[in-house]
This record gives sequence, structure tokens and C-alpha cells, in this order.
Amino acid sequence: MDCDCFDAFDREHLWHPYTSTLDPLPTYKVVRAEGCEIELADGRRLTEGMSSWWCAIHGYSHPVLVEAGIRQLKAMSHVMFGGLTHDPAIELGRRLLRLAPPSMDKIFYADSGSVAVEVAMKMALQASPGKSDFLTVRSGYHGDTWNAMSVCDPVTGMHGLFGSALPVRYFAPAPQCRFGGDWEPRDFEPMRELIEAHRETLAAVILEPIVQGAGGMRFYHPQYLRELRAACDRCGTLLIFDEIATGFGRTGKTFAWEHAGVEPDIMCVGKAITGGMMTFAAVLTTDAVATRVCGGEAGCFMHGPTFMGNPLACALACASIDLLESSDWQTKVRAIEARLREGLAPAAAMAGVADVRVLGAIGVIELRRPVDMAAVQKRLVELGVWLRPFGRNLYTMPPYIATPEQIDRIVRAMLTIASEARP
Ligand SMILES: *Cc1c(COP(=O)(O)O)cnc(C)c1O
Repeated sequence: MDCDCFDAFDREHLWHPYTSTLDPLPTYKVVRAEGCEIELADGRRLTEGMSSWWCAIHGYSHPVLVEAGIRQLKAMSHVMFGGLTHDPAIELGRRLLRLAPPSMDKIFYADSGSVAVEVAMKMALQASPGKSDFLTVRSGYHGDTWNAMSVCDPVTGMHGLFGSALPVRYFAPAPQCRFGGDWEPRDFEPMRELIEAHRETLAAVILEPIVQGAGGMRFYHPQYLRELRAACDRCGTLLIFDEIATGFGRTGKTFAWEHAGVEPDIMCVGKAITGGMMTFAAVLTTDAVATRVCGGEAGCFMHGPTFMGNPLACALACASIDLLESSDWQTKVRAIEARLREGLAPAAAMAGVADVRVLGAIGVIELRRPVDMAAVQKRLVELGVWLRPFGRNLYTMPPYIATPEQIDRIVRAMLTIASEARP
């Protein structure tokens, strides 16, 4: 390997996301991350275009978040949530209810996005005695645990591999009408038919509102969600929004449901909730669903992780939300959106490019062929940016603090890769 930033022990012993131990992709060693930059072990500084998978919305090592973390560490890093409570959990709850859809009333804290999806699905089942089916759309992504996996896209997800060990779900085609495009009522028909056909057994429909993230980086028409809400109401089916990627301003709204103005019965939030400082997530629901869950056979909701309501994570989440609310993030996200839209536009004419799309602080160049990860990653690092493409998607969701110059550097690198992509 050609630099100090590859580590032999790591390569020999550590598994990284979706990698082989037999022939691992190179992993670059980071020694520091600050603002919108990460510094590699060989001294190179890369402009961060991924926010570490949607999380680091304020950039890295933000002094306000660091200070909040140190303060909480000194008070208590953790106490169990069974029978105990604390201000960080209470304060975070107040903030989440203030930001969430008005009908949300009860909060369950979880350790990660995948766990939040498991919790949401268990809530829907406990609230719907006699029903045990779930319905979703293709091209979705909801995490890597068992039930989360079962509602990921069946092709790009892991259904083939895990086969009959995975619970079987119903899938409607992915919404086709684009965000900002025309609405075609036909787009909703397959979903309507599935909901009506399975109304007797369907506990819930689960999907990502407006933006399908890791399952394809697709932005769809808000009318789809309005039709979906109406169909779920007609058939007595609960509606779960997975806002784990879209939450905390990424799409230009605090949460993506606001684009459509329809509220879910259950909502998952995660990723950017702590500003990227720690893993944490929450599941919000209505008083009506909570009453159905707790008025049922068990008399309570049957879940309670060891690290539930972790005070350190809650304190960091409170600080991150306060920082967001005091930061005029709408203006920043709008400025990033405009810059990405203008900057990425030339890619649409390139032979190797199938589509270019931008929404909020998310920019996507969809290529015609899957990228060669190792080669493209190396090239991106040489170009001075950190991006992590997957499949045919070359995309960015930078921290909201990214300067115009930093956005331009990310855009230039994306255009370079796109121009080198084969048709
Ligand atoms: C990342 C993601 C998850 C899973 O979250 P983890 O914290 O990785 O478990 C679930 N849903 C969506 C929409 C996500 O983007």
C-alpha cells in the first residue's frame, strides 16, 4: 500500500461495512476530524461530502457539542432507564415533540436506526392484534437487523442471501413520479391495490417519506404520501415513516413529512439526531397507538434495551438540536441546494450519466454503470474529497456548515468522476 493511511492490523482483523476479509477494500485511516474536513494519517485533508452517512450535520468536533458531551460525561455518562429517569432524556423529549408532527405524543428511545425500525414494527404489531403483515415499497432501506432487512429492497437488499429465514413482506413498486415533477394518479394504484387486498392482515405500511436513501437515492412526489395516508385510513392500517436519513433539515424541511403535510402513526428518527457525535435514535407515536399497544394483552410495550435513553447521547442530541435551531439552517440548506443544482447540472450531458438530481442538501449523479469502488474511492481521495458512492450512485450530503468553496470542491470531484465513467 502506498501511504501511511493503510493499517495492516485493520486489514488483517477488522471487518468494515459490507466488506470481505479475503480481499478487503482499502480503508483510509483518519486521525482527526474538524469542521467540514477529515485528516488522514498521512496528513492529507479531505473535504467531507458524506456527513459520515447523514449524521455530522454541524461538521466535526463542534465546540458546542464537545462542551455538552464533556459536561454530561462528568455528571453521568449512563444510568439504566428502567425505573430511573434524568433531565437529558426529558429535555430531548420536549425538543423532539416540538419538532415532530403535531399528532406525535409518546417517545421510545433506541440505540440505532435499525433498532428504531425494529421497535416501530413491534409497536405496529402490538397495536394491531390479529394482524402480522407489513407492506413497503421497492428501493427502500431501513437497516440491517432482521425485520429492518425484511423491508429493504428485495433485490439490492439482502433477501436473496437470507432467503426463507427472512419474514416475507409485501412490496409495491417504488414511486415513479419525481419530486418537483407532475403527479400521475396511476403511480399509486399498485400500492392502493395491495393495501385493499391485504387489509385484514396488514399491521402497517413502512417507508421513507420523499427521499429513498441507501436503497437508491430517489426523490418522489409528495402526492404519493397523501394517497397513502388516505388509503391506510380507509383500510385501518398504520403508517410508519422512517425519517432516519431525512430528519433534522436534510431535505430542506425539519422532517420530510412536511413536504406532503401528512402525518404518520409512528415515526423513526436517528442518524443526525446527535449531530453525528454518537449512535442514537427514537421512535415517536401518537397517543392513540400507544393506548392500543398498552391496552392490549401484554399491558405494556415489550422492549427495553440496556442502553435505552443513554444520558450522554440524550445530552448531545439536545445540544445538536439547539445548535440547529439557532443556526438559520434553512438558509444554509437552501444555499447548498442551489449550489449543488447549478454545479452538478453539466453532468446531465455526460455519456456515463443516467440522471442528476438535487433536493435540499442532497446531490446525486446516477451513473449508467456501477462504480468500481476501490478505484473510484482512490481517485476521490486524490481529488481531496471524502465521498462514498454505492452501486450507480455518486452522491453527496455535506455538513450544513460547508462553505461555498467546499461545496464547489465536492462538485468538481463528482463531475470529474462522472466524466470518467463509462457509458
Ligand atoms: C441508516 C438508516 C437506517 C438504519 O440506521 P442504523 O443506525 O444504521 O442502524 C434505517 N433507515 C434509514 C432510512 C436509514 O437511512
